[in-house]
Amino acid sequence: MRLVLLGPPGSGKGTQATRLKDFLKVPHISTGDLLRGEVAAGTELGKQAKAVMDAGNLVSDEILLGMLESRLAQADVANGFILDGYPRNLAQADALGQLLQRIGQPMDAAVQLEVPTELLVERIAGRAKAEGRADDNPESVRKRLQVYEDSTAPVINFYKQQGRLTVVDGVGELDEVTDRLIKALAPAKA
Ligand code: ADP
Repeated sequence: MRLVLLGPPGSGKGTQATRLKDFLKVPHISTGDLLRGEVAAGTELGKQAKAVMDAGNLVSDEILLGMLESRLAQADVANGFILDGYPRNLAQADALGQLLQRIGQPMDAAVQLEVPTELLVERIAGRAKAEGRADDNPESVRKRLQVYEDSTAPVINFYKQQGRLTVVDGVGELDEVTDRLIKALAPAKA
């Protein structure tokens, strides 16, 4: 199963992807986690990305594509993946389509986790207390939601127009949302 999980910051993509990977038996690839890994390791790429991420802006398409390309070249991706955090704009959606075609691994499903904005802000505030992520401060959160509206929402429309989008309600208990996702993915998994 090659799945792209879409949704705004705080929609629960990361949490649900972690749960789905056990069910689907494919790795969870989070571009946010990959970038935070680079920052933590103090690499040149991490140094370039940190300020951009902390401000809630998008890291360059070029950096993301390079990072994703090397991740998708690893052996554990042979049976598929859950992609979380990519694509975040139309250029990335286009690049992803080309990359997947080149490696002969076309996408099986694009799923959007839908959560109202008020709830996103509330959830991220809760996470900020629990995890202390540098980009979970109010200013950066506002910026990330804006970037989502401006740059990522068009990606959702793009997949919708291609008839490839499944929308799943992201409001409710964690287990409920996981069950909805599993039901929504059943046709693509078969
Ligand atoms: P969230 O979904 O809560 O915003 P992520 O962990 O997915 O968190 O991403 C954190 C940050 O990492 C983003 O705000 C952005 O700066 C950077 N990032 C992650 N994925 C991408 C991407 N596909 N393109 C550009 N920047 C990205």
